Amino acid sequence: MRSFVHTANPARVVFGAGTIDGLRAEVDRLGARRVLVLSGPSQAAAVDRARASLGPLAVAFFDGAAMHTPVEVTERALALVREYAVDGLVSIGGGSVTGLGKALAIRTGLPQVAVPTTYAGSEVTPVVGETADGVKTTSSGPAVLPRTVVYDVELTVGLPVGLSVTSGVNAMAHAVEALYAAGADPVTDGMAIESITRIAAALPRIAADPADLDARAEALTGAWLAGICLGTVGMGVHHKLCHTLGGSFGLPHSATHTVVLPHAMAYNAGQAPDAMRRIAAAIGGGPDAPAAVHDLVARLGGPLSLRELGRGRFTEADIDRAAGIAAAQPYPNPREITTAGIAGLLRDAWAGTRPPGAPAIPDFSGLTREVIASFAAAPDPRVRQLLTDLIRRLHEFANHNDLTQAEWEHAIDFLTRTGQISGPARQEFVLLSDTLGVSSMVDLLTNSRTPDTTPSAVLGPFYVAGPPAREQGADIAGDRPGTPLWTDVRITDLAGDPVAGSTVDVWQSDEDGFYDVQLPEQAGPVLRARFTADADGRVTFWSILPSEYPIPADGPVGQLLGATGRHPFRAPHLHFMISAPGHRRLVTQLFVAGGAYLDSDTVFGVKEDLIVDFERRQGPAPGGREVHGEWRSLRYTFRIAGSADGELAEQ
Ligand code: NAD
Repeated sequence: MRSFVHTANPARVVFGAGTIDGLRAEVDRLGARRVLVLSGPSQAAAVDRARASLGPLAVAFFDGAAMHTPVEVTERALALVREYAVDGLVSIGGGSVTGLGKALAIRTGLPQVAVPTTYAGSEVTPVVGETADGVKTTSSGPAVLPRTVVYDVELTVGLPVGLSVTSGVNAMAHAVEALYAAGADPVTDGMAIESITRIAAALPRIAADPADLDARAEALTGAWLAGICLGTVGMGVHHKLCHTLGGSFGLPHSATHTVVLPHAMAYNAGQAPDAMRRIAAAIGGGPDAPAAVHDLVARLGGPLSLRELGRGRFTEADIDRAAGIAAAQPYPNPREITTAGIAGLLRDAWAGTRPPGAPAIPDFSGLTREVIASFAAAPDPRVRQLLTDLIRRLHEFANHNDLTQAEWEHAIDFLTRTGQISGPARQEFVLLSDTLGVSSMVDLLTNSRTPDTTPSAVLGPFYVAGPPAREQGADIAGDRPGTPLWTDVRITDLAGDPVAGSTVDVWQSDEDGFYDVQLPEQAGPVLRARFTADADGRVTFWSILPSEYPIPADGPVGQLLGATGRHPFRAPHLHFMISAPGHRRLVTQLFVAGGAYLDSDTVFGVKEDLIVDFERRQGPAPGGREVHGEWRSLRYTFRIAGSADGELAEQ
């Protein structure tokens, strides 16, 4: 058990695309009437949008924010605050601009709205670092914390890939250190893991397509969560070291974080095994967390060594001095901080060597791009889109899971056997798709966008085209034994009017759970038929009560179910395929209420609206049929939709 104190920092967060256009409302909420808009040189377009939203509330603008918040820059902005009698601050930009807003707020007490454009996370921390005479010091307090944060995903789309990667890893560093922080608690743990997961997944997508708004939203959400971690618990050796390298040697902030993180993690790994295990799982690049971060950065083309960042500001000869500064003040860290230990860490970071662990993972991005480019000339744009996305995700899957040759050969063998066992009477690929939930997903995407119609359900592997036509009231059970079932269904349109002449195909299993195509002794179709609805849209017939049944489990799909501890059973049901000219075809199933496996149907096909009471009856039966003992009665009304284009009408 661990005891903890968790203090949440108050802030209003507005997240979305285009949210900067609502800036005026956010400033109004704070009661500010004369706002100074802070930015850096690259935020001109965002500042224009802020100006349009704020109108006369924006009385002054300052675009000179600089990295590490130099006090002389703060003084210049402070002069504007006084000159224009400013009563509120809006900062639009990365951590440097947010830092300037905070530095002004700590001097003036003015309320701030932060509009971040990187993944630095500063906007949700009550801390500001300032640089004076080459020394960076931090201060904190409630006045430092922006009152409102407006996350506008659109503003991050222009962040170049290189900066996106380093800024994303900078955010990840907050989450990593939160996991082994002395003051960690379940809330920060949860946010940290969520943050690492989102950022690790989003960065490769951003590298592949910087305009991918969903990936940008994922990264920005991850950055927000990481920022909360940073603002809630104390950071360890990684942040202290980056603080030293930035403040005393002028190294660029996010790039330094990116280079140092795997080495700081390796420094602490032995003393924080649980955190490392969780981080590795969240990144998904193998079991060794420091190596996984290194590989992620390498794959994304990010900086790996202080040597490449130093550019004369920091050289190998500075390592001992930097280690001395970083180790001078004691602070909580899983592993004891020693000057020699930090110097070793810095030497590894200088060289950019991969932290020891699993063997290096090569950079696959070129291969993925090459394969995707090979589809560029595909004449059908839909084919191009589907193949491009499939390859991107398939490569990412292999990479993310560090797929082994043996695993891939096993998968190929599995698919080969799935094909080999398939034939006219057995469709193992449909079973595979069903048991993985893909059939249900495609069914929902294709057929369930009209909530007023009867829900659809998967076709399943046992439909046989062109079933025998039968008369109303016929018995389709042949000589199969079972509890007699009288089915009386109506087909109506959305207005409730009968759809006379609808073609209704039905098929079902027998009492033992077998379809006719599975019964070697069965000659010809049984328990399957085609009916034509009468003038009232009705179809009636006799059959037998279907039972639950296992899908064929003697093939590769059965092995998959067995290997994952899943049962192979389907809940008892009757299949219907209803077609009528001018209407969308409905493929569905009706499930027997109270039947087995309704809550764990192995193909994920059960829908609440399709569970029907197959009423228990005794005595006189429809059509004058003599039934001894119990029989069942199924009544149901199917509602089918008109087809606008006829595309899915009767086949
Ligand atoms: P930054 O704000 O300096 O931005 C880096 C570069 O990216 C700049 O050139 C900037 O103009 C450009 N840029 C920003 N957004 C852009 C966009 N959307 N499109 C194109 N270009 C864009 O760097 P940063 O990494 O965001 O922040 C670093 C600073 O923040 C450091 O001073 C660091 O100490 C501070 N920081 C403080 C905290 C805290 O809690 N106090 C937390 C994190 C970072």
